[in-house]
Formats: sequence, C-alpha cells, structure tokens
Amino acid sequence: MKVALKDISHSFTEEAILFHNLTVDLVPNRTYALVGPSGSGKSTLLSIIAKWLEPVKGEIEYDEIEKVNWVFQNPHGVANRTVLDHVCLPLLSYGMSREQAEKEAKEYLDIFGLNEIKDSLFKELSGGEAQRLMLARGIASKPNLLLVDEPTAQLDTKTAMTVSDKLTNLANKGAIVVIATHDEHTRDACTDIIDLTHYGV
Ligand code: ADP
Ligand code: MG
Repeated sequence: MKVALKDISHSFTEEAILFHNLTVDLVPNRTYALVGPSGSGKSTLLSIIAKWLEPVKGEIEYDEIEKVNWVFQNPHGVANRTVLDHVCLPLLSYGMSREQAEKEAKEYLDIFGLNEIKDSLFKELSGGEAQRLMLARGIASKPNLLLVDEPTAQLDTKTAMTVSDKLTNLANKGAIVVIATHDEHTRDACTDIIDLTHYGV
C-alpha cells in the first residue's frame, strides 16, 4: 500500500507558487506531519493527496488505497445525534450489529477521553470535545489513508499531546496518516516531517 507524490507543484495564481518539486512516498506504519507557516499550502496539499484537487504539475498515484478519510479542521457533526452515534455510524455501515458497533465505538471514545459524554448530543459539545469526536469517528471508519487538518487547534497542550500519540498509534495498525499541523508536539509525535518551507521557490 502506498501513496506516491511525484514532482508535485501547485499554485492558485501565477505569482504565488505554494510548493514545487515535491516527491515523496507515503507508506503504512508512518505518520507524516505536514508543516509550514499559515498559508504555506498545508490544507491545499491535503486536498491534492485526497485527489480532490489536481496539482498544477505532477502526479499522485494510489497503490491499494481503497478508503480515504478526512478529519476537517472545523468539526462537522449532526447537532441532535449523540457522541456514541457518531462513532457507531461508520461501524454500522460495515455491517456490524448495533451491539458490536457500540462495543467497538466505546473503545475509540475511550482513546479520546469521550466515554463519559457518550450520551451527550453533538450540539452540547465544546470545540475540543467535538474535535476529538471527529478524530474518533475518522479512526472508526478504518481508512487506509487518514488525512487530518490541524487536529489540535482547539485542544489544550496536554490533550493535544495525547491526541497526537493516538494518531501515531493508529498508523502502527497499518494506516497511512498525514497530519497538517503547526503544533510542535504533534510534529514531534509523528515519524516523518514534510516541511513545505523546503519546497518553496
Ligand atoms: P495552510 O493550510 O498552510 O494555512 P492553505 O493551503 O489553506 O494554507 O492555503 C495556501 C494559500 O492558498 C493561501 O494563501 C490561500 O489563501 C490560498 N488558497 C487556498 N485555497 C484557495 C483556492 N481555492 N483558491 C485560491 N486560493 C486559495
Ligand atoms: Mg490549513
């Protein structure tokens, strides 16, 4: 399983090239921190890796990637659904029984410290809780490739450190994890760093 980025360059306007000549293979059991200052193109590169956006130059090749999941910077959930429901849904979609799904969902909620609020509605959550829920749901959907945009933006430092470790653990189970971040703890928890400042013009 692999995602190959081959000589990728991108710009939205002719004057401002975001990054160029980016060649890297993304492989399982690694967690990639995508770093660079605000506006350097981290979210843009995630879109390119997801194949939502075609780069101006270069190619993306997927090898045995079947399921791509994206955890957005701003948590989007269903207002009147519970925390537990949010994580059960992807599991149910795999054909699990409600009972099985709940059992497994609780394991993911535990990882992100959400078990105590499993019956809360999404609309009742704080920004940080909502963000952790989206990460739990992202992992529950068992993607081959998990793209995460600024996972710790709304978390305090201690929670942010735990979350980064959890995401890295997920990678150990065979997923490819790419995390756009400007948080140094998250960066340090990753196995590899892709620094966009090295691909500037
Ligand atoms: P980062 O995630 O590193 O903060 P982004 O990838 O969001 O950076 O944005 C990089 C630059 O590209 C910014 O200057 C942003 O305004 C610009 N940009 C992002 N998306 C678009 C778009 N769809 N059209 C034009 N410019 C965009
Ligand atoms: Mg961004």
